[in-house]
This record gives sequence, structure tokens and C-alpha cells, in this order.
Amino acid sequence: MTQRLVIAVDGPSASGKGTLAKRLAAHFRLPHLDTGLLYRAVGWTALQTGQPPADVAARLTPEDLADPALRSDEAGQQASKVGAIPEVRANLLKFQREFSSQASGAVLDGRDIGTVICPDAPVKLFVTATLQARAERRYQELRAQGGDIIKPRVLAEMAERDRRDSERAAAPLRAAPDAWLLDTTEMDADAAFAAAVAFIEGKGFRVAAP
Ligand code: C5P
Repeated sequence: MTQRLVIAVDGPSASGKGTLAKRLAAHFRLPHLDTGLLYRAVGWTALQTGQPPADVAARLTPEDLADPALRSDEAGQQASKVGAIPEVRANLLKFQREFSSQASGAVLDGRDIGTVICPDAPVKLFVTATLQARAERRYQELRAQGGDIIKPRVLAEMAERDRRDSERAAAPLRAAPDAWLLDTTEMDADAAFAAAVAFIEGKGFRVAAP
């Protein structure tokens, strides 16, 4: 197989797409970009500094993605807000397109990779799970980090983020027509990974020689 392997992984939060994308990148020896981090960095920096989100997006560098605070749920909510601004999305496009154009191929995960960023990707996965299953995962994750977490609140915040991501006019969360749907409601991370590898290998792609 000589075609460059670009894997687009989209889906809602806590669907398992991030973990899956990371494991696929390691398996197929490809660079990986978690594009949610870009939106998180824009939302978080804009909130902290008061700069317009579109300006932050235009000046974003890879170094801005390292702050551990970006992983918080608050940063996720901010990301979802700035993700609805068309200028922010436009200003982050080049960064993502350059990443996906590397000669090595690439794995990108996000909300609009298969629809907007890499419409020609040979492999598109849309990873999903019920709202209840995703909220339960997020709840367990947050509890493991300690702190007083209220389950109904986790569910309500996730429903709110889903709604904002799916209903926005600019690049809403949607499966590309040619995406393969992977419902992880009843699957653990190993099962989701095995299913995705089988699907990708079924398309004729194999692990690159080291
Ligand atoms: O995937 P993650 O939870 O880190 O994404 C945070 C938020 O960033 C999402 O809820 C979404 O609003 C936004 N996002 C986006 N497009 C992407 C990746 C993330 O709009 N490609």
C-alpha cells in the first residue's frame, strides 16, 4: 500500500476517540494531533488574558499546548464556546492542514476532521457512545482525580457541550458521510482499538516498517 495513511477520528467528548487516536498513532507509527487542545488553548488563553479568541488562534504555537490546565473541564467548556466562532476555526485551519499533510501521514482527532480538515482522508472514524455512558466515564475519571464531583452535573455539562458542538453553524459535530461508525457504549478501550485496527487493515493499510 503506497497511499499515505491519514486517519481522521471524530466524535463527542468521552466517546473514547482521544485514547483510540493515540493508540492508532503508536500502532501505525504516525504523528498524532489532538485538535481539541488547540481550541482549549485558545479558550483558556483568551479567558486568562482578555485577548480576542480569533487573535489568540492566529498566534497559537505548539508550545501553547503544553499547559496541564488545558485538560480541565472548565477549559473544555471554554473550548466549546470559542469553537463556535468562525474566525477562530479559520485561524486554526492552517495549523491542522499542515499537520495532516506531513509525508509520514498522520492521525488527527477532533470534531470536524473528516468533514472539514481532512475531507480526503482515506480512513475516517466516527467514535460515539450514549450520553449516559460518556458521562459515567467522565465522572469516574474526575472522581479518580479526587474532589467532590456531582454526577448529575457532569451529565448536564456534557449534554450542554454536545448541544453546543452539534448545533453550531460553523463546522458542527457530524459524522462525514463516508465515516465508519464505532459505537463504544459497550466496549472498553482494547476492544475499540482492535475493531479500528481490523477496519483500517481491511482497507489495505499495514504498520510502516521502522
Ligand atoms: O476534544 P476536546 O474535549 O478536547 O474538545 C474541546 C472542545 O473543543 C469541544 O467541545 C469542541 O467544541 C471544540 N473542538 C472543535 N473542533 C475540534 C476539536 C475540538 O470545535 N476539531
